[in-house]
Amino acid sequence: MSSQPKDYDLSYKVLLIGESAVGKSSLIRCYSKPDQPFTSALMPTYGIDFVNVITIMDGVRVRLQIWDTAGQERFRTLTAMNFRGTKGVLLVYDITNARSFDQLQYWLRAMNKHELMYEEVILVANKCDFDEKRWEVDTRTGEEFASQLGLKFYQTSAKTKENVQEVFQELAKNMKFANHPDLVVNDDQVGEDFDMVDGGIRLPSFDYPKDKRQRNSTRCCYTK
Ligand code: GDP
Ligand code: MG
Repeated sequence: MSSQPKDYDLSYKVLLIGESAVGKSSLIRCYSKPDQPFTSALMPTYGIDFVNVITIMDGVRVRLQIWDTAGQERFRTLTAMNFRGTKGVLLVYDITNARSFDQLQYWLRAMNKHELMYEEVILVANKCDFDEKRWEVDTRTGEEFASQLGLKFYQTSAKTKENVQEVFQELAKNMKFANHPDLVVNDDQVGEDFDMVDGGIRLPSFDYPKDKRQRNSTRCCYTK
């Protein structure tokens, strides 16, 4: 009996972290279900653990397993289980809510406690579709905070979709670079360096960099 073919080669757990109502569930929905219209109803995330999205990087099928925090963040009841195995984080605040920006300190401490600081993290200022008069955190403040932390920075809107694909793609790219830097699949490589297994690819073993702090990555910002 043959097993189901795998439809991906690499899989990474992604977590969206930040205050309640900053738009985490909306960003996940916007990225994973781009055809569905934006709704301003609060997302009923209870019971939904994660969604899988497959994207191609260097010819490799990368599965992002994107976890929602299901409202637990409101009560600060995220546990080690939520964080375990996470390879990429979108740290999200609401550009129209300064408190959600101030509270990033809490979320950074939580990430530190759960040893996520050396994983791939991008700072995300969501709801940039709002008129700038409503913004309580200007672009420069977000950019400076990101650059102090050595993070990339995006301003996004789950409503207009601005930068939503881009920020998840960037995270996928960074996670692959950090965890499987040498893995590139060209048509002519398949069958030579890689064995096809059940329609998927058996990965050769690599010596992955142990200490990500030593990486030379360029950090920059993506704003409107
Ligand atoms: P979560 O608690 O962080 O998961 O936030 P939700 O995704 O539930 O969003 C909270 C509220 O903000 C909902 O009413 C959303 O429709 C709204 N919202 C989320 N993202 C955006 C955005 O980019 N622009 C606007 N205008 N509203 C948003
Ligand atoms: Mg939510």
